[in-house]
Amino acid sequence: MDTPRTKVTAIAGDGIGPEVMRATQRILEAGGARIEWENAIAGGEAFRKGIATGCPQETLDSIASTGLALKSPLETPVGFGEKSANVTLRKFFELYGNIRPVRELPGIRTPFSGRHIDMVIVRENVEDLYAGIEYEQTAGVAECLKLMSDPGCERILRLAYALARAEGRSKLACSTKANIMKMSEGTMKRVFERISGDYPGITPSHVIIDNCAHQLVIAPEQFDVVVTSNMNGDIISDLAAGLVGGLGIAPSSNLGDQAAMFEAVHGSAPQIAGKGLANPTALLLAAVMLLRHIGDFAAAGRIEQAVFVTLEEGRNLTGDIAAPGAGTGTDAYTDQVIANLGRISSMPSRDYQPVVMPHWADEVWHQAPAARELVGVDLFLESGEAPEALAASLQQSLSGSAFTLKMLSNRGTQVWPPAGGHSFLIDHFQARLLLPAPTPGDADGEIAELLGRLAGSHRWMHLEKLQRFDGRDAYAKAQGEG
Ligand code: NAP
Repeated sequence: MDTPRTKVTAIAGDGIGPEVMRATQRILEAGGARIEWENAIAGGEAFRKGIATGCPQETLDSIASTGLALKSPLETPVGFGEKSANVTLRKFFELYGNIRPVRELPGIRTPFSGRHIDMVIVRENVEDLYAGIEYEQTAGVAECLKLMSDPGCERILRLAYALARAEGRSKLACSTKANIMKMSEGTMKRVFERISGDYPGITPSHVIIDNCAHQLVIAPEQFDVVVTSNMNGDIISDLAAGLVGGLGIAPSSNLGDQAAMFEAVHGSAPQIAGKGLANPTALLLAAVMLLRHIGDFAAAGRIEQAVFVTLEEGRNLTGDIAAPGAGTGTDAYTDQVIANLGRISSMPSRDYQPVVMPHWADEVWHQAPAARELVGVDLFLESGEAPEALAASLQQSLSGSAFTLKMLSNRGTQVWPPAGGHSFLIDHFQARLLLPAPTPGDADGEIAELLGRLAGSHRWMHLEKLQRFDGRDAYAKAQGEG
């Protein structure tokens, strides 16, 4: 009796998407993968139908029921809708783990050939600056909130460890900018230090993200698994892909508790769409990741080896990776990979085990501190006044209130009382207003009174509480603040 087929939602996508999807599906079928495709649309086709998210409900329903999607590139047409369909899908299914394998492939010549690069970049996919919580606070000053949570860090770090274990890897480097952003990026570093003892056999290390970028270029072969936050990961995963031949051959997966989506890293390449020239390797290798995700290691290995043999022998490669003037089309390449099924290349496939995904409770995570105190507030003000004048007018308004003005900063640098050094000033000030002593609770009454008394005299956009949790300050000092 035949092995039952696994249902997978297939999104053919835009531009070269349908061509690379067809090629991938042909190779999977020939390679013995037992998949039943459920076709769905997203991206350009959905936008043209007036669906502003780029994802029809039927597509979301299909992924919700299969739990698996293979997705070709989706364009975000200018003028049809504001949302990226890719981001919609990642957010809708809370696909928090972006996995980007970076491996030197046979036959793909790069300046790094022969260095045996073989690593995985694990990028947090939901939090951080890319959550897209943005405001223009004054007519010329924009803000993007960088939220990083303890559980958000823990789940991506544990996923990175689970992946390292499943792939038999022995090192995990966590890369952050915790030296500067001690609270947001620092959360990832602290959680990494807290949980790493749970994974004996995997050596943890921490590397500052800028040095990580440097090390990736200087000595990329030193890395095994790198885990990092959303924007850091976006940048270094593209950098790392460039080391081994570029985005055109780079696969990725997006993993969550309820669903997993597999895709090529490249876009819809509209310039070559419909010409039969597209290289399907990236989507095909993403499909290989999908097969491993569902436990079909045999078909995954067979197809991966056929790709490696094809690249190694260099016959019938598409124009983007062939020797100059020797490129063929998508179909010829696809036929060649199919013809090579069953052959073994000089580059062995890694030994993969199922990834044991950490399980997360489906409830609101909440961790109340044992003691909560309010030290004061930071009030962000729009003002065209010089710091001395603004401080004087604030002090006047504060007279008789519970708060006193401790300092003014301008984009993070203290400018009143003057701390020395030159500061270019803009109309966006942070006023640090302190209570006489740390006050248990939230002091909401005092804050309401404060806002009432400033109404009409000072324009404020944003207020942050200066809190202490269990005796530790939960806010950063400004540059130059004592
Ligand atoms: P792109 O589609 O990746 O294309 C850049 C260039 O890379 C192409 O013009 C082509 O170069 C080459 N290329 C990419 N994939 C290839 C393949 N499989 N085979 C052969 N050559 C390939 O990047 P883009 O032009 O910046 O983006 C185009 C559209 O894709 C945009 O609408 C963007 O929003 C979307 N996009 C979607 C995703 C996604 O769905 N995940 C990701 C990125 C971009 P030549 O011109 O030299 O042939």
